[in-house]
Amino acid sequence: MNSLCDAVKDEEIKTIANATVGLYTRLTDGLHHITDKNGWQVLADLEFSSYIELDDPDQLMEMEGRICPINIQQDVEGKYFQCACGKKHIKRLSIMEYKKAKDWEYLVLGSECISTLEKYTKELEGIDNIKKKIKLWLEDIKDEVKKLRYKKCLSCNEYKVSRTTNYKNPARHFWCNNCSSAGKVKCVTCGDYRFFNLDWKKQPMKYCRSCYFSS
Ligand SMILES: [Zn+2]
Ligand SMILES: [Zn+2]
Ligand SMILES: [Zn+2]
Repeated sequence: MNSLCDAVKDEEIKTIANATVGLYTRLTDGLHHITDKNGWQVLADLEFSSYIELDDPDQLMEMEGRICPINIQQDVEGKYFQCACGKKHIKRLSIMEYKKAKDWEYLVLGSECISTLEKYTKELEGIDNIKKKIKLWLEDIKDEVKKLRYKKCLSCNEYKVSRTTNYKNPARHFWCNNCSSAGKVKCVTCGDYRFFNLDWKKQPMKYCRSCYFSS
C-alpha cells in the first residue's frame, strides 16, 4: 500500500519537475534546503497537526525542541517564527508533522504560503494527490480559524456565535441567530423557545421549564 502511494507521488513529483514555468517554488525550495530531500516529496510527507495564531511567540516556545530549529529565529526584538520558505515573523502558523526527521517532529508553514501553493498548483494536471492534500490542509485551517473566531451555539452546536462581536441582544452571546428570536432562545434539549435568562451563577439558562424539571 505504502509503496503504491510512494510510486504515485514519484510520478507526481516528476510531473511537477517538468512544469517549472510559473510554479511557486519558494516553499519547496525551503523544504529542500531544510531536509536535503525533494521539496515536493517533503510536502507529500507532511501531515497537518494544528493551527495557531499568535502575537506572543512565548506561547509556542514550549514546543521548542520539537519544532524544526529553522522555524524559530531571533532578532533584537526577541524570538519569532519563520515559515519553512524563509518568510519572517509569521503569525498564522500551520504546524505540520514530519516523521522523517531525526531531531524534530514539526515544521511550521505560514498559512499564506499554503494558499499561494494552492493557487499555483490549481491548473497543473497530473498531480491530483498533492493537490488534494493541499486542499485538505486549507480546509483544516479554515475549520481551525472558525473555532478561534466563533464559539458553539448552545442549541445547534455550530460555530456561529462570534467571540468578538459585542451583541446588543445578550442571548446572542450564547445562541446563534437561527436559535434565538424576539428575546427567546431554543431549549437545548427539546428545541422549544423560552425567554432568555441568566441563572444565579450568571450562566444562561439552557433548558425550558419542563426539560429543567424533568432532568
Ligand atoms: Zn512561506
Ligand atoms: Zn444555533
Ligand atoms: Zn425543553
